[in-house]
Amino acid sequence: MSAEQAIAFVLRVYDFSESSLVVTLFSREFGKIRALAKGAKRPKNPFDFALDLLSLCRIVFLRKSSDALHLLTEAKLVRRFRLEKSGLAGWYAALYAAELVNLTTDDEDAQPALFDLLDDAISRFQSTTTLKDDILRFEWRFLELIGHSPSLETCVNCGEEIAEIGNPQNQDGTDETVRRRERFFALTEGGVLCPRCRPGRRAVVSVRPETLAVLRSLGTKTSAESQIPPRNYGELRALLNQYFCHLLGQRPRMHDYLG
Ligand SMILES: [Zn+2]
Repeated sequence: MSAEQAIAFVLRVYDFSESSLVVTLFSREFGKIRALAKGAKRPKNPFDFALDLLSLCRIVFLRKSSDALHLLTEAKLVRRFRLEKSGLAGWYAALYAAELVNLTTDDEDAQPALFDLLDDAISRFQSTTTLKDDILRFEWRFLELIGHSPSLETCVNCGEEIAEIGNPQNQDGTDETVRRRERFFALTEGGVLCPRCRPGRRAVVSVRPETLAVLRSLGTKTSAESQIPPRNYGELRALLNQYFCHLLGQRPRMHDYLG
């Protein structure tokens, strides 16, 4: 058994026995690690009460064979999640970020960029005043990093360019013109469909073009440069919720808490 050191976020903690915990950690060096923390529930323990959800810790663990839990021997708290400006909503958002990372990563697959994104999200979510925007921007970057950025400019099936996907400032138009301008987003393929490829396809949602334009802007503009128009927020949230459910094959537990 070799001793390894890493810096890691606590993604999950559960009881193993009266005195021990099993922790799922996401480390910068090794990716996701699952480890047994013997004696972590005793008053005197080598973990310094660092093993709380979303805490960032410096850890030492003994590597076990591939199937077994590793053995955590040390954890030193670097930073704990604090309830600041964004309150409980920020806590839920940070738990959601951790849940997405947990659901989409394999054990011991190091992804430093994903670690840095989670690090940034957890810090931001506790003190931001633009939480809803920040969650959407996190999700966009997250999709990029796991290789599932939606295709918004060309048809995800045939590659044909989709006509101008909408100006978020322009909300004019009767119900009829809006209906004719609606776009189709294929959840399975992960992107927009041209009108020719739409018929007969399942798991397709209709989206207003201006909402897709806002979605596209998440990757290019910061929340300081451009706030998400409130009128687009609900549709955007619904679209991303459905897309994530489809992608993960399950509904993230924290979706209910995103407001
Ligand atoms: Zn097409």
